[in-house]
Amino acid sequence: MSSIVAIVGRPNVGKSTLFNRLIKRREAIVDSVSGVTRDRHYGKSEWNGKEFSVIDTGGYVVGSDDIFEEEIRKQVQLALDEADIILFVVDVEQGITPMDEAVAKILRQVEKPLFMAVNKVDNAMRAADAVEFYNLGLGDYHTISSVNGSGTGDLLDAIVDIIPEPVEDEQENELPRFAVVGRPNAGKSSFINALIGEDRNIVTNIAGTTRDSIDTKYNRFGFEFNLVDTAGIRKKSKVKEDLEFYSVMRAVRAIEHCDVAVVVVDATRGFEGQDEKIFWLAEKNRKGIVILVNKWDLVEKETNTMRDFERKIRETVAPFTDIPIIFISALTKQRIFKAIETAVEVFENRKRKIQTSKLNETMLEIMQQTPPPATKGKFIKIKYCMQLPTHTPQFAFFANLPQYIKDPYRRFVENKLREHYDFTGVPITIYFRQK
Ligand code: GDP
Ligand code: GDP
Repeated sequence: MSSIVAIVGRPNVGKSTLFNRLIKRREAIVDSVSGVTRDRHYGKSEWNGKEFSVIDTGGYVVGSDDIFEEEIRKQVQLALDEADIILFVVDVEQGITPMDEAVAKILRQVEKPLFMAVNKVDNAMRAADAVEFYNLGLGDYHTISSVNGSGTGDLLDAIVDIIPEPVEDEQENELPRFAVVGRPNAGKSSFINALIGEDRNIVTNIAGTTRDSIDTKYNRFGFEFNLVDTAGIRKKSKVKEDLEFYSVMRAVRAIEHCDVAVVVVDATRGFEGQDEKIFWLAEKNRKGIVILVNKWDLVEKETNTMRDFERKIRETVAPFTDIPIIFISALTKQRIFKAIETAVEVFENRKRKIQTSKLNETMLEIMQQTPPPATKGKFIKIKYCMQLPTHTPQFAFFANLPQYIKDPYRRFVENKLREHYDFTGVPITIYFRQK
């Protein structure tokens, strides 16, 4: 699990510019692998060997030019609920505006770690102008220029300084952690109720790694598992709006804490952009995924209704199509058992380790028969492969000229791995390395 840093602030202070700078390096690596729609407001960052997530909260508000203060207030509030660290951005060119004051007022009451970045300090002269931001009552600040990068290194040093060292967690015998995610009204609470009963037969409450996340342990249908419950889910009633921002923010935290994301989709609405985004969040975090198409009782069914629905989802999430899709009704409890059974299988798949000798036996033969296409008259030969000792399935293939291997071949290799070993519901990472 990595810490979540939320960038807040009024429009035009440079939040998205800063966001892009923070995620840049890593993004390039991840995106060449994943074909799924990108979310421009959520990304992973790494500094001094520590990984964290960054959310540009402003990016989720549409028409940000004439934004209402009320909108910003809600945005900040949600960031406070869901993030571990708040990064408040202000603009030295404009100085303090009433909206900055309004945001600062909320932030002054917050107990979470807070960093104030005075942006657009492109030169030393402007650094002097930044002093006025002491008046916001938030203490010290960092002067940065998101455009030319100055000061951002020091800011990152300070941020990662308070991020805990990655723990060598997840002992082998730990229970699966499931997060039930999806857009508002998809039926998440109904599914959870159908699964664990209205009585919420709680075995133990385990305080999560942060004060805002609580895993609750359940024993149902012979399966033991933890459900990830986040502050955002518990405070559900507080925000009613069907805003993308809210469901994505909630999903981010829940997904980061889980092993398997159970994505609940409303069958009467289809698999839409927002569902796709939540799916993508899980994929990007290398979590296991199960898609539950809920409210199946409401759908008028003909012979091919299920098949067509399923095909549409797979087309949308391609190329990562090796995903269980289950049609359920939280209301009538149809296939609830199947849903949880599948989630447990995906959890097991995610832990699967393939012996190096077996892997080489299987894969090298395939790759000899179908080698990567020759580039610039050079033949590429894969000599050896192994699964890396990571929490999620990652494979290294060693070749003479790994730099010439293109994405289509990577997908070919991934498909072959999936044909031979059960990695259903689990993102696979493949590296080609020099040998
Ligand atoms: P957001 O609405 O807070 O996400 O702000 P944007 O990132 O879209 O930036 C708003 C404007 O400020 C854009 O024109 C940026 O190019 C500009 N900007 C962002 N950071 C800097 C900076 O460090 N220096 C200068 N001079 N301009 C910046
Ligand atoms: P959440 O916002 O994702 O937690 O969604 P809820 O569980 O609150 O459900 C939203 C609405 O859909 C409620 O009115 C539920 O009664 C209804 N609902 C949920 N699951 C089903 C289902 O399987 N079938 C039908 N007919 N209605 C459902």
